[in-house]
Amino acid sequence: MSILTELITREQIAERIRALGERIRNDYKDEPLVTVCVLKGAVIFFADLLRAIGRSTTIDFMRIASYGCNVTRESNVRLLLDLETDIAGKHVLIVEDIIDTGHSMRCVLDLLGTRNPASLAVCALLDKRERREVPVDVAYAGFVVEQGFVVGYGLDFAEGYRHLEAIHILDPGA
Ligand code: 5GP
Ligand code: MG
Repeated sequence: MSILTELITREQIAERIRALGERIRNDYKDEPLVTVCVLKGAVIFFADLLRAIGRSTTIDFMRIASYGCNVTRESNVRLLLDLETDIAGKHVLIVEDIIDTGHSMRCVLDLLGTRNPASLAVCALLDKRERREVPVDVAYAGFVVEQGFVVGYGLDFAEGYRHLEAIHILDPGA
């Protein structure tokens, strides 16, 4: 039996997203902005964050496999869905659910960096900072998570638990 322990309540999530949205709105002012949702885990966060930013942005989506990514060797790029938007000369904000070792986000940053955006920044709901293996500058971080595997609010375990309103620690149990 899996056991869920609530870690971050829906109220805490909502309040944090409100603050993140305000910072993003103030930082980008009236500059055109492309917001990129990294599928699938960030999808619920993305939908709430867009409304908290409270201004128009061009939205787009990408999806990568969470291993074996190396943009310098094309064959290793596990890009499952690419952007439709030409980001050259544009400000781009990448929205991710959680950054753990940093390899996935490093890959996305390296890939999008080759397309000459005006700027590239990361917004992650959760940051497992202590487990970082490659450096990633997270300009907008929701919550720092110390340990454990978290689910809910878009984050899954084997496609389960995404619908939960709060973020929980999953203990797979005995
Ligand atoms: P990284 O490349 O930074 O090690 O891994 C990032 C990806 O691993 C995330 O986008 C997410 O898909 C997955 N991941 C890492 N930690 C967790 C976690 O605690 N819960 C869930 N559901 N996914 C995680
Ligand atoms: Mg992810």
